[in-house]
Amino acid sequence: MIPSSFAYAAPATLRDALSLLAEHPDDTKVMAGGQSLIPLLKLRLASPAVVVDISRLKALGEIEETPSAFRIGALVTHDRLLGDEAITEQWSLVRDAGEELADPLVRNRGTFGGSLAHADPAGDWPAVALAADAVIHVQSQRGAREIPANDFFTYLFTADIADDELLTHVELAKPLPGTVTAYVKIDHPASGYAVAAAGVSLTIDASGTCRAARVAFTGVATTPLRSAAAEQTLEGSTIDAETIQRAVDHAADGINVIGDGYAPVDYRRHLIGVVTGRAIRRALDRRNCTPDNHERPHT
Ligand SMILES: Cc1cc2nc3c(=O)[nH]c(=O)nc-3n(C[C@H](O)[C@H](O)[C@H](O)COP(=O)(O)OP(=O)(O)OC[C@H]3O[C@@H](n4cnc5c(N)ncnc54)[C@H](O)[C@@H]3O)c2cc1C
Repeated sequence: MIPSSFAYAAPATLRDALSLLAEHPDDTKVMAGGQSLIPLLKLRLASPAVVVDISRLKALGEIEETPSAFRIGALVTHDRLLGDEAITEQWSLVRDAGEELADPLVRNRGTFGGSLAHADPAGDWPAVALAADAVIHVQSQRGAREIPANDFFTYLFTADIADDELLTHVELAKPLPGTVTAYVKIDHPASGYAVAAAGVSLTIDASGTCRAARVAFTGVATTPLRSAAAEQTLEGSTIDAETIQRAVDHAADGINVIGDGYAPVDYRRHLIGVVTGRAIRRALDRRNCTPDNHERPHT
């Protein structure tokens, strides 16, 4: 189908972009890589009066590393993030997820920020952001806000970002020593999107006790979300076979699991346990592989 007509603007500065968004907040759509927005326009599921293409805002395409964090610009493409060795060596789940996200064409155009703002309930980066406790930064003419990933995804394709706000960058703190991570996805054979996927981050001390656990899912509910039950099972425990099984058994507790023709609720609930167990084991396999007990690169 052909999109309904719209005005197009490609501002060269963040200031101009924010001013355009402030002018027509209800009737304007930001376009980053266009990999989700353009199909929506073509299907007329979105019919904005104005499309603000932010691809000329080069500063939003940078990754900056500080001693304590990575600052990932909203326009960093999936491929660029996947190619960042400093990030993928410290956060292996970024590599796991990036390698399985869509295809090379989409990875070359689609952006990290666009994926988070789009808030697809089956998107891969949202689960990574949740598992890594990322902080999402947005800006408008009214000022700047930072939102923990855990509060960002509010409903189906809906994030805590107002019509006049632009997602500018995402802050990913460097993992604490002893942290291992992994992402495991069971994808739909036709679309490649997650039927169920888990992102896991475990911080394990020298005695083998798990001090902090994040277990996040995508593809299983109306939003990407964390499993409080699985995290509570893991935290304070030694991660042995029995603990993993308990996390698997309780991973779906409290989650309003969705079903469809391909994966009815009971099957998807089962898959939540499967991806939880696989992700925990994949993360544990990465323990003790580097001198400082951080992760080794994904193999
Ligand atoms: C064939 C195909 C397969 C795919 N498979 C997968 C997959 O397996 N896993 C997966 O996770 N994704 C998949 N995707 C989606 C892809 O990852 C998109 O790139 C991503 O969802 C959106 O990023 P984008 O930069 O293209 O955003 P756009 O399409 O430009 O925008 C998407 C939405 O986010 C808003 N937006 C974008 N950037 C900003 C910003 N900085 N501030 C505020 N709002 C913003 C837009 O207004 C729009 O509503 C697939 C896409 C295609 C076409």
